[in-house]
Amino acid sequence: MTTPKKTFRDLQKHFLSRPELIIEHYRQYKSNISNTLNNNIFITLNDLPEKEFLSETLLRYKNETIRQLEGMIVSVKDNINVRGMKMTCASALLSEHQSLYDAQIIEALKNAGALIIGKTNLDEFAMGSSNETSYFGPTSNPLDSSLVPGGSSGGAAASVAAGTCDIAIGSDTGGSVRQPAAFCAVTGFKPGYGKLSRYGLTAFASSLDTIGIIGKTIDDISLAYDVMKDTNFKDRTANNEADISIGQKPVIGYIDINKYEFVSKEVKNDYINVIQHLKVKNYKLERIELPFEKYLLPVYYIISSAEASSNLARYDGIRIKNSNGQPVDIESFRSANFGEEVKRRILNGVYILSEGYYDRYFSKAEYIRQKFTCEMEKLFLNTDYLILPTTPTLPFKIASVKDPKEMYRSDYFTVPASLAGLPAISIPCYNSGNNIPASIQIISSKNTEYSLLDFACKLKN
Ligand code: GLN
Repeated sequence: MTTPKKTFRDLQKHFLSRPELIIEHYRQYKSNISNTLNNNIFITLNDLPEKEFLSETLLRYKNETIRQLEGMIVSVKDNINVRGMKMTCASALLSEHQSLYDAQIIEALKNAGALIIGKTNLDEFAMGSSNETSYFGPTSNPLDSSLVPGGSSGGAAASVAAGTCDIAIGSDTGGSVRQPAAFCAVTGFKPGYGKLSRYGLTAFASSLDTIGIIGKTIDDISLAYDVMKDTNFKDRTANNEADISIGQKPVIGYIDINKYEFVSKEVKNDYINVIQHLKVKNYKLERIELPFEKYLLPVYYIISSAEASSNLARYDGIRIKNSNGQPVDIESFRSANFGEEVKRRILNGVYILSEGYYDRYFSKAEYIRQKFTCEMEKLFLNTDYLILPTTPTLPFKIASVKDPKEMYRSDYFTVPASLAGLPAISIPCYNSGNNIPASIQIISSKNTEYSLLDFACKLKN
């Protein structure tokens, strides 16, 4: 795979022997931020002066009283609350909104010594696959600024690829951590549904929303996951079931990639190479078919739009004042402040949930989702890991995809794990002949996050 990078644990050892290195480390990230301002990666930067930003960290390194993530520099997607910072969800509607509290995972990160460097750009309310629906303008891909970084956590993936932080926290409802990670050639991990607290994450589609982590190394991601998982849940959908570990001789499921006419040649080649490589390494491989495959993308868009229309009903303008301190015009508030894609989802969602159409669309979609989840459980009785491409194509040019349906197709391979609430990780392919490698996605069964991370690590080496 891509060349191994230094892990944060390695860096910590250096910082312990020479605490002033943490200052250099931070300055390097700051300078990378200044050099990539044109990429529009951050919406808000933490403006604490360096001395204050690093004071406790330095002291703890000097006294050797460091915590698990002491000095880890973290970027946070701007739909997650960080107390005292703006949280805009990349929407005009919340462009002045200030967070009053920390999301639970943010509290956990801070308590372990992590430092928040800024809030990253995203598609408005996390709806999109290219970061082009942001009210603050698109983010461009740090690997090639004519390309999109993916979405909706496009700023998050770009913040890692541009070397502005150790890890990025994003959210993944239908692929928003894995797809941008793939487009920016970094690693993106979505734990199973309910494994990380959603308290403080702005709701898009509550039965799918999941916090995810993007990083340069799997070790960094595991370290942060460990800390965030260890929180006292304030979230009623928390999954506190015990972890299950997968044995050392896993069976790997893969698909017949050649049958997809919308998958690009580059992605096909990289995918086939990975499967070939696994064969050479003597892994047991089995070709599988994804159950209910052709329904999954429509089912995802039906359920997520229905839930979004209900979640976004709270932005009614009643409690909001305009910049002169006057109440806003409630009649026009939503139409004036939501962007086009968000309106499309709300209108679709309201339609799907309306009398007469509820049974025709929503009930059926829920039914298929349940059936699919059961079929996936069965599939995982004989398979340990499922390997799919992360995306059907390599990153595309900014402003090149105009048709929403074509945009939605970017999520073809990521929505299955979301609908079934399964853990999944995207890693860049090794031996890729492409400038930006395609990525593969590994999916595993419920409660096997740690085995999945270990397996992904093994594949990388
Ligand atoms: N691209 C998908 C969508 O627009 C996924 C978004 C997400 O995971 N937040 O719905």
